[in-house]
Amino acid sequence: MIKLKLRLEDLKSGLNEFWASYTDEDLDLKNQDFELVNKLDLYIRAVKRGRNVELTLEATYTLRLTCARCLDKFNKKFNEKETYYIKIGKEPFFEEKSLKERDIFTQFIETDEIDMVPFVREIVILSVPMKPLCKPDCKGLCPVCGVNWNYETCEHMNQPKVDTRMAKLLELKSKLGM
Ligand SMILES: [Zn+2]
Ligand SMILES: [Zn+2]
Repeated sequence: MIKLKLRLEDLKSGLNEFWASYTDEDLDLKNQDFELVNKLDLYIRAVKRGRNVELTLEATYTLRLTCARCLDKFNKKFNEKETYYIKIGKEPFFEEKSLKERDIFTQFIETDEIDMVPFVREIVILSVPMKPLCKPDCKGLCPVCGVNWNYETCEHMNQPKVDTRMAKLLELKSKLGM
């Protein structure tokens, strides 16, 4: 069963559990520099106490990423768990809040429906590594001829590594006649 939104009145007091699955379209994840492979499976644990909901989301999914070194595409599995503290209602003015309520983790939702999509979307986007690697020891591409050093060799492999920034600086210096 796909549950995109949880209605507060449909939740019973205490523990509620749901399972859902989402496509990249459901999560508005098209046009990213990664792809969601198949569907994302979500386990939703919602503990309701009055107008407070402690929401724990556990997402299982596979992303197709591009290696930052060799530019190959590869699949990586993820299992991410996150807890959110939600209060249904208007956020009180700062002065009215007690110290306890001034909790940066509490999110206020003004409608009585909790939409899962923004939470799940955030979980996925934050899980993508800054520099994804197809394997920890990926050898990358040759900076001179571009062959993939994971599969091929070339005559540049054993040359001393030239710092490209330094090379550019030297080039600039020779152009300026320094
Ligand atoms: Zn790689
Ligand atoms: Zn080469």
